[in-house]
Amino acid sequence: MINIVLFGPPGSGKGTQAQHLSEKFNLKQISTGDLFRYNIKNETELGKLAKSFIDKGELVPDQVTIDMLTDELRKPSNTNGFIFDGFPRTVAQTEALEKIVRQELNSEISICLSLVVDDEILVQRLIKRGETSGRTDDSDVEIIRNRIKEYYAKTAEVAELYKKQGKYVEVNGVGDISEISEKLFAEVEKIK
Ligand code: ADP
Repeated sequence: MINIVLFGPPGSGKGTQAQHLSEKFNLKQISTGDLFRYNIKNETELGKLAKSFIDKGELVPDQVTIDMLTDELRKPSNTNGFIFDGFPRTVAQTEALEKIVRQELNSEISICLSLVVDDEILVQRLIKRGETSGRTDDSDVEIIRNRIKEYYAKTAEVAELYKKQGKYVEVNGVGDISEISEKLFAEVEKIK
């Protein structure tokens, strides 16, 4: 199995690149952001809870997110592995993921691919996305800045854990989308 953690700040292009990686290597993409938005749209209890955090640009509490991810991973699927997009975002989630992947898939995280993009470019990209995405968390510069702040406060330290395991690879996330994909593909080929 190939199990990829796709890592990077909000607006770094994780969603787009996760889709490309998933097609290239036949992996199932699991995006916690998409799962939350699905629940919000369908007005589930989980959606209502998640919305109260997402609309402020804060992270949804760990246990809620971990339970949702675990449910998703338990669904039967015919895949060569998984791409985790937007998860893990905290140290607790990183530890939980390691355990779930071991228990449910009898496997491990193969690599953490990190998209690197300058903060001001992130803000510009998210404001632009907000013009068409309809995402409430893209509509306000203060919320966008708070998401980037949350990233540095809680998520950046996830990188340290993968670095320690020798699984952390940075890729420049600025430039042509397909060129970035090629760079990511090359990193996966190295560990196949
Ligand atoms: P982005 O990476 O652009 O912020 P996402 O779709 O990944 O977009 O996430 C949107 C929001 O959903 C986050 O700001 C956060 O509130 C919530 N969220 C997504 N994934 C997680 C997670 N693993 N843990 C906690 N909250 C999450």
